[in-house]
Amino acid sequence: MGLEEKLPSGFLLTTVEKLAGYMRKNSLWPATFGLACCAIEMMAIGSAGKYDISRFGMEVFRASPRQADLMIVAGRVSNKMAPVVRQIYDQMAAPKWVISMGACASSGGMFNNYAIVQGVDHIIPVDIYLPGCPPRPEMLMDAILKLHEQIGNEKLGVNRATFVKEVEASAIAATPIHQIPVFGKQG
Ligand code: SF4
Repeated sequence: MGLEEKLPSGFLLTTVEKLAGYMRKNSLWPATFGLACCAIEMMAIGSAGKYDISRFGMEVFRASPRQADLMIVAGRVSNKMAPVVRQIYDQMAAPKWVISMGACASSGGMFNNYAIVQGVDHIIPVDIYLPGCPPRPEMLMDAILKLHEQIGNEKLGVNRATFVKEVEASAIAATPIHQIPVFGKQG
């Protein structure tokens, strides 16, 4: 006689890790935070019925970083704005995640100049890079679902903190974009 015969029907077995992942991924609250044109596409997913992120319990964009655990960096980050972005990130509840939305947030995009940070990962650790200029709302939804998948499979304990430290250390150790020959001055 197997164990399953002793159990009532509909009995579900899981691990604490999977359960925590399931709850975390279904209770993400994004910070209200838009920097440039990409932000209009981000606003569409929260306001237009045909996109409707309330299906995932995410329609509540929080005005306080202390109530948010997802930062969607939507738009280019100026050097002047960089410390503000970092401060908002630091004030968010942990564990927290970041989506870099659009070419500008991920790499500076077409703004290869002194005023724009050449990739927000120089300031904060990024979990998902979303390409496009601008990415359509459907693409952002796809990025959110991919992040959900990632969060659902994340290990508990110090793993997240270690991952964040490693990502930050590698961003600091990376060659500044203006020193890479293809972007900076040649020769
Ligand atoms: S990626 Fe394009 S749409 Fe997004 S902030 Fe940059 S220029 Fe604007």
